[in-house]
Amino acid sequence: MLGVSDATLKGARDIIREDPTVLMLDKAQPEFTNTFAGYFPVRVTNSRISEGRGLLLKHQDLLEQIQRETGVPPQYLLSFWGLETDFGRTLGNRSVPASLANLACDSRRSDFFRQEFINALLIVDRGDSTLQGLTGSWAGAMGNMQFMPSAWLKHAVDGDGDKKRDLWNSTTDALVSAARFLAALGWETGMRWGREVLLPTGFDYLLLDQIQPLSTWSVMGVRDSMGRPLKISQTPARIVLPSGADGPAFIVYPNFDVIMKWNRSEYYAISVGRLADQIAGGGKLVRSIPTDAPKRLPMQTIVSLQGSLADRGFEVGAIDGLVGPSTRRAIAAFQKSQGWLPHGFTDHRTLAALTVPTGPGEPATATP
Ligand code: CA
Repeated sequence: MLGVSDATLKGARDIIREDPTVLMLDKAQPEFTNTFAGYFPVRVTNSRISEGRGLLLKHQDLLEQIQRETGVPPQYLLSFWGLETDFGRTLGNRSVPASLANLACDSRRSDFFRQEFINALLIVDRGDSTLQGLTGSWAGAMGNMQFMPSAWLKHAVDGDGDKKRDLWNSTTDALVSAARFLAALGWETGMRWGREVLLPTGFDYLLLDQIQPLSTWSVMGVRDSMGRPLKISQTPARIVLPSGADGPAFIVYPNFDVIMKWNRSEYYAISVGRLADQIAGGGKLVRSIPTDAPKRLPMQTIVSLQGSLADRGFEVGAIDGLVGPSTRRAIAAFQKSQGWLPHGFTDHRTLAALTVPTGPGEPATATP
């Protein structure tokens, strides 16, 4: 059945237990509940940067060889390693088949986790591990690079030549596999992830959702964090403001979207890019991260916000609880009508003026 051997299926039945903590953790993922100010500074830390720099020297030959083979630069691999498991310190010790079985029982992403559960058993059938050896996070991610079983099946390789694909204990296997995975996700050799930029006075924040050539942003007056012009190129780029108009701005390139295929969170992708830059010798962010930006709004609150804008005659499009381009345009139009900077972010002042209820447990958002 399902391509999994009877012996593995039977073994899996014996280790699966109901575990409500798994679903609880799934609903509280920091990428989706935290602010950027709460997320970024505890991940891109001085100690992680200096440890990454040490590991860059320690594994220099291996990392350079991987770069020649895959095009993925050393500092990015170290950055993923640092963010995923603190360079191998926090691999997770939960049973991955048990966690995945619990997640598959939750209707939200049942099909996805059901398939990952089957994939985990296939890893056992392939001989990479025993059932008991499949340990990892509550979400089913395993090893130094926290591979989901599907990524493991497709991209895990034996980098050190001992005939085992062991992403728990072999640093070489883990680094080579991560690079292969990134290459398969479309990593563009010779390109950065993005960089911090400074936006010009009078910048049109409603262009944030657009992908334009780097040179178009440059002509509009977007500068690098030192105030220098950006390179003139046709590289498709967009601007990301993870903590609203008052925080740091980033211009991001196709490799940013590759990082987001690894983990669908802009906070995560910015952290990967920034940690990589600093491991490679780059400096700190120029703009500070505001600590008072609102959190992500729950759908219910966005519905209230959209209703309030519509009542005032602003065109919000569908009242669907999602902040898309038309809602952002309506927010910006409202801000303009108040004589404020029309940035389209739902800051505290805007929410208060639109009398949107943000009761206890209903934090507000800065991300569109
Ligand atoms: Ca190996």
